[in-house]
Amino acid sequence: MTTEVQKMSSVTVRVPAKVNVQLSVGPLREDGYHDLVNVFHAVSIHDEVTARQARSITVSVTGGWAAEVPLHDGNLAVRAARALAERAGFGGGAELVIHKAIPVAGGMAGGSADAAGALVACDELWGLGLPREELMEIAAELGSDVPFSLLGGTAIGTGRGERLTPLPVGGPFHWVFAIADTGLSTPEVYKECDRLRGTAPVPEPKADEELLAALRNGDAAALGRRLANDLQEAALALHPPLAGTLRSGLDAGALGAIVSGSGPTCAFLARDAAHAAELAGVLAATPGTRTALPAEGPAPGATLI
Ligand code: ATP
Repeated sequence: MTTEVQKMSSVTVRVPAKVNVQLSVGPLREDGYHDLVNVFHAVSIHDEVTARQARSITVSVTGGWAAEVPLHDGNLAVRAARALAERAGFGGGAELVIHKAIPVAGGMAGGSADAAGALVACDELWGLGLPREELMEIAAELGSDVPFSLLGGTAIGTGRGERLTPLPVGGPFHWVFAIADTGLSTPEVYKECDRLRGTAPVPEPKADEELLAALRNGDAAALGRRLANDLQEAALALHPPLAGTLRSGLDAGALGAIVSGSGPTCAFLARDAAHAAELAGVLAATPGTRTALPAEGPAPGATLI
């Protein structure tokens, strides 16, 4: 078995994008982070990470978003492969190829998805066989969204978002994602959120029981009403045209509309697949929107294909 794994010359892993159906942001902590209650939902927009045998760790990117992804050491997939090699005491390398379909800097955790994909792909390519819990630990060190990209499905994250509990979901839910023609930096959106809050007291973040029930019951109409994102106001302040995008989707009958994570991608909940296709047509024609992608959730986490 081990010999067979060691002979493997190429491994491909599919990783999903996410939307935060609830993102509750607590007060700014002394360490500069915020406590969060984060209800993550993985959706069927995927990157693919392929790892091939090589002497050192390198990365290249294909697909429509390739030009926006760094190829240096800051690439999250490279950082993930390095962290895994270090943890396992492995001296070899991997040629990583990312096929990028998740928008970059869109609030859909694309970089985190690639990190999760690289962890699973290199673990398999190198025949390490690390338990999932250990991959989850490395993932949490790489970034607060990386563990969820490994896990997939729907889950509630606490702390910085990295302590995860899977949630039962009665879906599927049908979504449309309006991808803006510009990106937003996650740290800048948090900074703007703090600035807008000023000195007003900020309550501790809390899960919305009605939203959890809507997920459990597969009740898209109720979920649409409960979508909530504490970063939305800050994302709208930094990029005002997003308000028009949200309005267009609601006017076209979306059950709910929300900025995804730190934005600027906007997520719209549809009644069914046909309604999602219809909404995507309307949103694609909205000014400031680069493209509109229908997708289903929940989707599985990082998976070998
Ligand atoms: P999140 O939703 O987790 O806040 P995001 O979806 O807004 O993240 P990403 O697409 O993950 O943003 O990219 C954030 C930044 O990370 C990019 O501007 C890019 O410079 C850098 N980055 C590093 N590695 C990658 C990668 N593999 N794919 C995309 N971006 C990457």
